Amino acid sequence: MEIVQAFETSFGAKPEVVAQAPGRVNLIGEHIDYSQGFVLPFAIDAVTRSAIRKRDDGQIRIVSAQHPEAMIRSSISELREKGGTGWSRYILGVLWALEIENGLDIYVDGRVPLGAGLSSSAALECSVATAINHLFELGKSLTQLAQLTQRAENQYVGVPCGIMDQSVSLMAKGGYALLLDCRDLSTQHIPVDFAGAGLRLLIVDTRADHALIDGGYAERRASCESAAAKLGVVSMRDLDMQHLESQKDKLTAVEFQRARHAVSEIARVLNAVERLRTKQFVEFGELLNQSHISLRDDYKVSCPELDLVVDTANANGALGARMVGGGFGGSAIALIKDEDAGKISLAIEKAFAEAGYQAPRFFDSLPSDGAKLIS
Ligand code: ADP
Ligand code: MG
Repeated sequence: MEIVQAFETSFGAKPEVVAQAPGRVNLIGEHIDYSQGFVLPFAIDAVTRSAIRKRDDGQIRIVSAQHPEAMIRSSISELREKGGTGWSRYILGVLWALEIENGLDIYVDGRVPLGAGLSSSAALECSVATAINHLFELGKSLTQLAQLTQRAENQYVGVPCGIMDQSVSLMAKGGYALLLDCRDLSTQHIPVDFAGAGLRLLIVDTRADHALIDGGYAERRASCESAAAKLGVVSMRDLDMQHLESQKDKLTAVEFQRARHAVSEIARVLNAVERLRTKQFVEFGELLNQSHISLRDDYKVSCPELDLVVDTANANGALGARMVGGGFGGSAIALIKDEDAGKISLAIEKAFAEAGYQAPRFFDSLPSDGAKLIS
């Protein structure tokens, strides 16, 4: 295996364990994890692999195939102080969260595109956590590993992500999406047979990033929290559209719009689950479109590049499309017929060139397996 050889070249011995974990794409359920809603991601076929061996001197050495120029050196004592900057803190954070007290040699090779909104960060954390769980016989459940890797990213890396990415990277099953209830963290596997219907999910990384300019994420979260407080509910999950409409005058116009996205999106996820179960993919595609319109017009987290992908895909025969992730850039998805794949990517490429945008990147994947040991 390639990673075993690469490990040996870096550290002069064979690894004791090798594990892998995938990236993910979220079919539907956007900006509702913090409103206690539902999300419906699936694991993509691209994975990150981690090979690990114990050391007996308390030192930690890390090499990434994606950063071949440098071996990162740390130690157990530095770990306690949340040491480490740069990419290695995603790995050190997992060791910290799992309270590892042993030196280690670690080699990682990530084939999930970095920073494309496909969660290379969770793939990295979960592959390390899966390997460590086995190597030290920690006996952690997948739910515990999801919570611990989320803590690593929140507290050690310093990114306030929800638990979706880690949950699906650890728990996914080939052929299924993972319905995750963000209120109680319960999960269900939902069959997704796009391939059987001659369909595929096209993922388009716009490579646009307008995210950090206005702190948009915090504002959206705060609007949902203030709307919930004014309506006397814990979260948007406790509202339905009728209830929300009837109390419109208690909210500001902006709060009402933000709440309308959250409430309608939660309903759309549950509707989408039924459409997937009954293989009504045309209706499922329409839900993707409605989700995009809601994110664009009510939640106002889209951007011209994302809208261009969605509009161009739909104009060229997609069953539906939407932005995914936090917004203001990043990726969009489109449910398309296999035979339209070339035509639609070309049309998007052309539209981007005409608009003077950076060339987008294209990926596609069927729902794939979650994290596993591979040796
Ligand atoms: P995303 O998770 O959407 O890909 P993030 O910004 O959350 O984007 O995470 C990407 C970061 O994770 C990279 O910039 C890098 O610091 C780290 N990372 C992910 N995979 C690897 C890898 N294989 N090697 C080194 N660093 C990685
Ligand atoms: Mg990430």
